[in-house]
Amino acid sequence: MTDSLAARWQALNLDRPSSARLLAVSKGHPAAAVRCVAELGQFDFGESRVQEALPKQEELIDLNLRWHFIGRLQSNKVRPVVKAFDVIHSVDSLSLAERVSRIAVEEARQPDVLLQVKLRPDPSKGGLSADELSTIWSDLQALPGLRVSGLMTMAPLDMAVEQRKHLFSDCRALADQLALAECSMGMSTDWKEAAAAGSTWLRIGSALFGPRLVSSDAAN
Ligand SMILES: *Cc1c(COP(=O)(O)O)cnc(C)c1O
Repeated sequence: MTDSLAARWQALNLDRPSSARLLAVSKGHPAAAVRCVAELGQFDFGESRVQEALPKQEELIDLNLRWHFIGRLQSNKVRPVVKAFDVIHSVDSLSLAERVSRIAVEEARQPDVLLQVKLRPDPSKGGLSADELSTIWSDLQALPGLRVSGLMTMAPLDMAVEQRKHLFSDCRALADQLALAECSMGMSTDWKEAAAAGSTWLRIGSALFGPRLVSSDAAN
């Protein structure tokens, strides 16, 4: 188990371009698995539910890991997320960004924020359209207490590979247009296409840790 985890981590690191960093998505896996991967040299971990993440973070406090929140962010969870996470990938409205900003200032934190965009119709997911983003862009940039550093997107589940490539390229182009360095895109099944299109964060769960043990909100 541990050996295959190490082998998968090494293979992912050999296969990816150095511009696309590996975000190890540990939701659904216990703290012990995170510790194994951290000991290989992995520093960035992603979680999508606060209740699941906090006890794990507590147990791993000695490792000084960098935690990324990648799940749907409910407004009543903004405070614990701002306190416990360094990067938030899933801010998908101006009102949510304003709340993150206010709470970050109160808590003397400065999270990196990625704006979740939805560039193709997908009823199962949140995200700003390109038009919505351009409408609120100047307001977003003026918010204190956070750094807007990039965009995050997810391909609709049933989307074909060719379409995914176009979607990821569109997301990269939109980030470039806004002078944003980060593009969080690509998961276990489509990270190669995302990396080729200019992803800077590959959010990889099952291809690293194996199937999730604890039920978790994969649809986020
Ligand atoms: C769970 C999750 C992932 C990782 O999914 P895998 O298919 O296991 O790699 C990536 N991004 C988000 C937002 C997730 O919720």
